Amino acid sequence: MRLVLIGPQGSGKGTQAKIISKKLKIPHISTGDLLRNLRGELKQKVDRYVNRGELIPDELMIEILKDRISKPDCKKGFLLDGFPRNLRQAKELNKLVEIDKVFEISIPDEEAIRRISGRRNCENCGEIYNINTSPKPKQDGICDKCGGRLYQREDDNEKAVKKRLEIYHKETEPVLKYYNTIKINGKQDIEKVTDDILKELDV
Ligand SMILES: [Zn+2]
Repeated sequence: MRLVLIGPQGSGKGTQAKIISKKLKIPHISTGDLLRNLRGELKQKVDRYVNRGELIPDELMIEILKDRISKPDCKKGFLLDGFPRNLRQAKELNKLVEIDKVFEISIPDEEAIRRISGRRNCENCGEIYNINTSPKPKQDGICDKCGGRLYQREDDNEKAVKKRLEIYHKETEPVLKYYNTIKINGKQDIEKVTDDILKELDV
């Protein structure tokens, strides 16, 4: 079972990837984790770009992914989260391995913006709240757990979210057309989204 999960930030894609991979007992391969856990030569290559504040080129991402999916735990399948990010990566992936199913967790831009721009972090203990969804802090701007001040990460402000959504529409949406993508309504409850994905997998 080789699966790909695609969706914009705020769609709940990461949460679903964790749940689904656990249910199917296949590794959850997220681009973020993959980059954080690198060692040796590949890590050195990646660091060169990261240290310069540059994007990691597609060829290198493909090399990293190829290395990861050749590991024994991927024999029975895997779930990719955050890859492929653009059409070029999708085409290269296609040369490496056949993907069984591709899901898009779809939410309207306004909903993604609402969810992400509502995030607040405690500057003291790191607890995360959401003033637009849940969990809401009991008192405005104050952490329930430790009384610390809540702040909004720069990445989470509306302007930053809009910029990332723009990139998603431009770069990632062509990937959805490239595959025979199954669209899942990401506005539903987490459990319902999981059910809709599992239904498509006959498990
Ligand atoms: Zn706190």
